[in-house]
Amino acid sequence: MSRRWIWLVVVVIGLFLLLHRSHFGVIVLHYHAINERTGKEGEIAVRPGDFAWHMTYLEKGGYNVIPLKQAVEYLTEGSKLPPKAVVISFDDGYMDNYEKAFPILKNHDYPATVFVATGEIGGVNRWDLDKGFAELRLMDWEQILTLEDQGITVMPHTVHHVDLTTVSQARRKAEITQSKKVLEDRLGREAPYFSYPDSGVNDEVVEEVKKAGFEAAFTSSFGTNMYEKVDPYRIRRMPVKEIHKGFWGRLLFVIELKLCSLYPF
Ligand SMILES: [Zn+2]
Repeated sequence: MSRRWIWLVVVVIGLFLLLHRSHFGVIVLHYHAINERTGKEGEIAVRPGDFAWHMTYLEKGGYNVIPLKQAVEYLTEGSKLPPKAVVISFDDGYMDNYEKAFPILKNHDYPATVFVATGEIGGVNRWDLDKGFAELRLMDWEQILTLEDQGITVMPHTVHHVDLTTVSQARRKAEITQSKKVLEDRLGREAPYFSYPDSGVNDEVVEEVKKAGFEAAFTSSFGTNMYEKVDPYRIRRMPVKEIHKGFWGRLLFVIELKLCSLYPF
């Protein structure tokens, strides 16, 4: 199918979804970097201008941005959710999140959660370099502590950002338990939520995450999350990436937000 036809289908589905007012469960937005890079280098990046647009759209569109904790309480206990509930999450802890995204979040007074690889804090995204992505700086401890003071929660994403399905059982256990411990020791509070690097999750990984004492864990699978329909250790997210840049990207963001809420149901 040519590009033009693909867009036509997107627009038709989009118009249908824009008129569809239902929103089921809670959607967790899944961002990585917030910068101006494009192409392969910027595959996991959203431009600051587009990120600001997304946040304004949530506000104008009547979405309720809630803390991750509230979403997990709904998914584990069935506690009440506000209508059109959305959570904002970031993986990896890029410095550009601190510099570009958080001032925008602060303007809206939105809570958010950042998942960090605790052994890479203050370094760069070494794990992405062989994929052709740009080398990006990661936040240091001082910045993480500043965020915590401002209502942005930081949670573990392993120690060295490894795909947990590809390592030994001993390494898997160490990556999961040590990242939790390091963060809890440093921040002086519980760190009960985890996100799987590179979508690396299977039954053994989930078992290890449960054993380590986590209450919930986040994947990169697309879809909304409804009480008793989604496993709290395989919470879905809506990835927001390079494709969501510019006019068409913003339209796609709006359409996906609607679509995400309906899938799976
Ligand atoms: Zn990651």
